[in-house]
Amino acid sequence: MTTPAPTPPSPHRSPAGGPSPRTLAVSAGRPPRAPGGSLNPPVVLTSTFVSQGTPPAGEHLYGRIGTPAWEPFEEALAALERTDHAATGRPGGGPPATVFASGMAAIDAALALVPVGGRVVVPRHAYQVTLVLLREQAERGLLRVDAVDVADTDAVVAAVRGDGEPAAMLWLESPTNPMLEVADVPALVAAAHDAGCLVVVDSTFATPLVQRPLAHGADVVVHSVTKYLAGHSDVVLGATVTDDPALHARLVAHRTTHGAIAGPFEVWLALRGLRTLALRVERAQANAGELARRLAEHAHVVEVRYPGLPHDPGHARAAAQMDGFGAIIGLRPVGGPAGADALVAAVDLWVPATSLGGVESTLERRRRFATESATVPQDLVRLSVGIEDVEDLWADLDRALSAAAGS
Ligand SMILES: *Cc1c(COP(=O)(O)O)cnc(C)c1O
Repeated sequence: MTTPAPTPPSPHRSPAGGPSPRTLAVSAGRPPRAPGGSLNPPVVLTSTFVSQGTPPAGEHLYGRIGTPAWEPFEEALAALERTDHAATGRPGGGPPATVFASGMAAIDAALALVPVGGRVVVPRHAYQVTLVLLREQAERGLLRVDAVDVADTDAVVAAVRGDGEPAAMLWLESPTNPMLEVADVPALVAAAHDAGCLVVVDSTFATPLVQRPLAHGADVVVHSVTKYLAGHSDVVLGATVTDDPALHARLVAHRTTHGAIAGPFEVWLALRGLRTLALRVERAQANAGELARRLAEHAHVVEVRYPGLPHDPGHARAAAQMDGFGAIIGLRPVGGPAGADALVAAVDLWVPATSLGGVESTLERRRRFATESATVPQDLVRLSVGIEDVEDLWADLDRALSAAAGS
């Protein structure tokens, strides 16, 4: 077996002000074009690389440190996150994305950027395992945590500034899981940087097609690639993206040392999924917008949270800073927690399951988890809207809502 050569920079890497993210999702991260060459990158299965003497920089050495199995996906994701350079005056190129074994591994690496004892300001509603990890690290004395209502910009800014002791990191999730609160990302990034505070944005719900936090000045973006980026509910993966070479080096060093590395097959599947990101997200968003409108008028619904609804508290902010409203809906059916459980039990086409961002529509009552924030309503059902025909999704949901209300 021949040793794969280090992947050269792709001719399809996004130039500043270059192709649209929709195009980049299809074109970035391909092998160099050559007659008879492979259109797609191969699955690279090797734990080590032939080498002797001092390895020259950029040469592959060992599979935990770096491998061509990761690079096409990292290049494609970096191109997607960094397409606004022309608009923001930031230079093109720069460090790539860093793929991890899971979204949580990426989050763990980003939190390791906090100096020991540093203060982290986090949304009180966020991905629950992020909050569990922060609590665990706080209990071990590694950092301190201040939880805030991320939609309340003044409260977040006050927490970041502290009492003369600014936070080390502002952790943003927007829209938040599962409450769909929208943070004022540009204003919060500016205030945090004024206070000398790093900003990390978990942009999983939005995807780079809907929101590009680096263009608003955020230092690091994290994704659970498991969700929309891979998109088919068949892999668990995560990634970070940063424009800052020093932060990038620390994230890569954390991956190498802590060892939460991605498997070659998973990364290959994620890149395969990424190719259809625009089609999937556009259809899922259109479906979600239509379902949210109909649900808001449904007799068996108490409340709908979806930033695309004109009356939603996050609507104006989302419209100003995002290129869409995502495809996650928060729904409180009539009948309290029992009504919510009955709804989840009554669906047929919709799949009762945790996770989100796959081609199929799923739903779950979030407070079934003991670790979910106590301020999340007991009857909140989170819908992840997929790409099925919207009329089929509606028919199933409408029937299940009526069945649940009557049971
Ligand atoms: C799922 C999710 C994560 C965690 O990602 P894993 O790939 O499951 O480790 C983090 N943040 C958000 C917003 C998520 O939805």
